[in-house]
Amino acid sequence: MLMATKEEIIDHGLDYLREIGVEAICKVCIPNGGSCCKSCPYLKDRIGCQSRNTSCTAWLCGFQKYIFFELGLLEKWNSFWEQVPGQDFRRDFTPADVNISLWLDKPDPRIRLVVDAFARDLEELRVQKKIMISQFNDTLDSYMNKLLLYRDSEILRHVLKKQKVHMREFQQYKMEKENYDSH
Ligand code: SF4
Ligand code: SF4
Repeated sequence: MLMATKEEIIDHGLDYLREIGVEAICKVCIPNGGSCCKSCPYLKDRIGCQSRNTSCTAWLCGFQKYIFFELGLLEKWNSFWEQVPGQDFRRDFTPADVNISLWLDKPDPRIRLVVDAFARDLEELRVQKKIMISQFNDTLDSYMNKLLLYRDSEILRHVLKKQKVHMREFQQYKMEKENYDSH
């Protein structure tokens, strides 16, 4: 058990996301109307977030949840953040110091290649008008929430099958994911 400041916890989460390379997906999402910070009063134009908090750092959008799940990172990510009290919508009531017993290991650097491939597919499918960024993010999020909620194997099989259909054109992502899984 180690006492950590709220800032250290946020930095740990942000470093992890940075190392995974999630900004490649945000770079496709934000200019195309999908930003999760949209209409937040803490967002300052061309400056960024003015209220770094544990809640927004812990929160994963549908794209991220899907990738974390597929790469086997979601459980650890959630376990890390379950140690952090006071998370709320776009703000937190997290105490200045929190006891943390489980930290996230440094992610495998190859994960970045998988995430980059996802971002490239996302952009290409958007340009071809095969997907709308926000709706697609919501769709993946809803599948992920069902996968995390249900225990019945028949329901899970059905959800996974439908999710697979939605992901069928993410060819670069699938190739990089296969490379990642085979090593
Ligand atoms: S919704 Fe997801 S991809 Fe879009 S800006 Fe937010 S974190 Fe990035
Ligand atoms: S508080 Fe959260 S939603 Fe608002 S700008 Fe900061 S990160 Fe974005």
